[in-house]
Amino acid sequence: MSIRTLAGIALAAATTATASPQAEPSAEAARRPNIVFIMADDHCMQAISCYGASAGPNVVETPGIDRIAREGMRFDRASVTNAICGPSRATILTGKHCHQHGFATNGQKFDGSQQTFPKLLQQAGYRTEVVGKWHLSSPPSGFDRSEVLVGQGDYWNPLLVLDGKRSRREGHTTDLIHQSAVERLEAFAADDDARPFLLMVHHKAPHRNWMPHPRHLDLFTDGDLPVPDSFFDAPDRRSPAGAIQTMQIDRDLAWLYDLKIDPTTLYPDEEVSRLDRWMTNELARVPQEALDAYAEAHGEENAALAAAIDAMSPRELALWKFQRYAKNYLRTAQGVDDSVGGILEALDRLDLADDTIVVYTSDQGWYLGEQGWYDKRWMYEPSFRTPLVVRWPGVVEAGSTSDALAQNLDFASTFLEAAGVAPPADLQGRSLVPVLRGESGADETLRDAAYYRYEESRGAHTVPRHEGVATREAKLIRYLDLLDDEGDAILELYRLDVDPEERDNLAGRPEHAELERSMLDRLDDLRASYQAPENVPAPTPRPGT
Ligand code: CA
Repeated sequence: MSIRTLAGIALAAATTATASPQAEPSAEAARRPNIVFIMADDHCMQAISCYGASAGPNVVETPGIDRIAREGMRFDRASVTNAICGPSRATILTGKHCHQHGFATNGQKFDGSQQTFPKLLQQAGYRTEVVGKWHLSSPPSGFDRSEVLVGQGDYWNPLLVLDGKRSRREGHTTDLIHQSAVERLEAFAADDDARPFLLMVHHKAPHRNWMPHPRHLDLFTDGDLPVPDSFFDAPDRRSPAGAIQTMQIDRDLAWLYDLKIDPTTLYPDEEVSRLDRWMTNELARVPQEALDAYAEAHGEENAALAAAIDAMSPRELALWKFQRYAKNYLRTAQGVDDSVGGILEALDRLDLADDTIVVYTSDQGWYLGEQGWYDKRWMYEPSFRTPLVVRWPGVVEAGSTSDALAQNLDFASTFLEAAGVAPPADLQGRSLVPVLRGESGADETLRDAAYYRYEESRGAHTVPRHEGVATREAKLIRYLDLLDDEGDAILELYRLDVDPEERDNLAGRPEHAELERSMLDRLDDLRASYQAPENVPAPTPRPGT
């Protein structure tokens, strides 16, 4: 199908959908593209080979995700509005910033009665389904069928809720989600319903606590992963804000829960941490074959650590933790890539590929050792930026790249336009369709600055609340609750064009005062344009979240 005919169909479909969203779809409307939206949880660009992931003597290979990039478009500057699971998902569904959809921290409950793009697609004649992680506290709405994990979901034998009915399934969660996704594609293909479909596939992996499928345990065993240059940066190198967090690899990872080593073999006289006590129970639900495989993969290294730990320097111990953590993260992510490759193969086999938009992204980026950290939350590049690749046969040029400042805010408008549905005026994102079509100047006109806001300072990892603005060249971060000696909000300012690792905070330096002033003005303008409050007290998380 040529680009021109597909665009023509989209226009025709728009007319149909706008005039009578509930009507039986015409034959022409039925040719609107299917949408398969695959999202990982916490998968960073640094771990994906088409983004140049490096693993030293080992090789990171993500052929599934790379195939989407090779046959479609790779976005190199995509970012999120709030780098944390639930709020990102709510932003994707609504096309709105967190203060508009009301889900600003993981402790809240998503108001499922509000407008979402799956509901609008459903009303416009799409079949809509979701499988995998949901994590919005309220049940999915706007889907003909939903099969979602309870809460964060477990890596093994997870509880799933299928259309409101809860049951436990046996197996590794990444593979179970994948199997369901492929079965749904087969069902769509077998059904003689001519309507297009939306299938959202939300993996739990590679979210903490990194329990790979045993088939991936022999990956990354050829030596050490490269250590990021900023690994040993002092926590307060950038500003006092950095010293408040509790997401340091050397200090905050739990031995058993995160690092898969029994702490009593290392420190027999010390009390076992809460997470490790929890993990002891969790392991009782892991299949014995998997436990045996973990023991075989890690046993020798664990014994060596127990023998050497008393003589190790803090630096050596931090590096040991980094290697163990990062390798299991990458192994867990490999299961997601297997799934992406398998979904592409299923689309080929079912003769759906030509009519289907395939998106791969993550709900945000992730710290893979940069600044000595794991986790996300910050507006700094490792967690602010997120992978995004899109294949759309006949529309997106194969092997193209974009440096548009795309955000997760944009998916709703994008999918609605692709489906020929006029995006409602209250959506805050922009459609990526002109970028995907490769229209001249589309990268630059999408947006020239992105707004960010993180609100969960009282939750896990104690990252201070902040907002910020990022352009192509610079980033300004303003802390909402941290004041300097003069009573002004603490700021950070970076020149991304010369300091992409953001190691040199320029805020407060006279020679950069003009840049600081202009970025503060941009921040104020964006906040106003998105109708975000200047500052409000942090939401209080509900107990137990
Ligand atoms: Ca996440």
